Amino acid sequence: MNLQNMARDCVRALTPYQSARRIGGQGDVWLNANEFPRATPYPLTQQTLNRYPECQPPQLLSAYAAYAGVGVDQLLVSRGADESIELLIRAFCEPGKEAVLYCPPTYGMYGVSAETFGVTRRTVPSTKDWQLDLSAIETALNETTPRVKVVYVCHPNNPTGNLLAHDDLRRLLQMTEGKALVVIDEAYIDFCADMSTAPWLSAFPHLVILRTLSKAFALAGLRCGFTLAHPEVIALLLKVIAPYPIPTPVADIAQQALSGDGLQRVKRNIAEVIDNRQWLQQALSKCSCVDRVFPSESNWLLVRFADAERVFQTLSAQGIVVRDQRRQPGLDGCLRITVGSRDECERLQSTLKKI
Ligand code: PMP
Repeated sequence: MNLQNMARDCVRALTPYQSARRIGGQGDVWLNANEFPRATPYPLTQQTLNRYPECQPPQLLSAYAAYAGVGVDQLLVSRGADESIELLIRAFCEPGKEAVLYCPPTYGMYGVSAETFGVTRRTVPSTKDWQLDLSAIETALNETTPRVKVVYVCHPNNPTGNLLAHDDLRRLLQMTEGKALVVIDEAYIDFCADMSTAPWLSAFPHLVILRTLSKAFALAGLRCGFTLAHPEVIALLLKVIAPYPIPTPVADIAQQALSGDGLQRVKRNIAEVIDNRQWLQQALSKCSCVDRVFPSESNWLLVRFADAERVFQTLSAQGIVVRDQRRQPGLDGCLRITVGSRDECERLQSTLKKI
């Protein structure tokens, strides 16, 4: 029996997402996955593991709804934002007939999730300054074979670090009205919270926003993300989500992270990351191996090096693991470096100074 041949064509052809964990690496300074550098310990308060959890734990929904300034009926909790990227495709795109659109260089999971379900990937490269190419997007939206049903944009964009112009996002929402959903991936928005598009939800029923506890909340290992959208979109996503997607310990810990004390800690995390980012930006721009440090609104810096291969190898040899972005369009010579603790930033600086 040939098990390979039994798999769906699109799965056989699929190159899975190259997550930081899948790529691996060896070292003790992990700056490759945009994680927060320290863990917070949490007790488990719910000793009810003999019972199934609620599909959408109500107290967790209320806590995040209050944090995000939306109603509980505008909210879905899922296994990280990654699960929501996939749920949207499953609920809104007809395999073989319809498409998702996204703008490289950007986060890889939009394409991988579409491919997994046999949904066409339409890409419209971003402009030279990494903004939306609205006229090219409009052309793609007007094509009917395949019809674009979901547009993913990342704000701030991973891996370039920049925000998208609010005026462009508004125009995108206008040009997609009645045609496609616009999914604004705000995984990193807590680092620049004023720029969130959440206040626009009531004006645009086809706007969907993705959030996560993996970044500023320092809970990447928890796997907890949120979707903010019109109640009808949420109801559709609830039709395709697994029956018990949120394990009891996940809801328990996420609720603690969203308590008053938890949110104070998040505020301190964000201030620390921004402080370290500014320090690192200065430090790196003084290193002779660095060609350019791009501005960032997030918890990493995208850096172009004169000899990125040498830098990558030298850092690896010193146990410093960063993310190679050289295969992304327009990112020749670029590595993405998560802003770690101040100690980690200093170790990075002293290694780069010697190159
Ligand atoms: N969107 C972007 C832009 C990301 O960088 C990530 C994390 N790699 C995700 C979504 C997924 O986040 P989560 O950990 O919540 O699945």
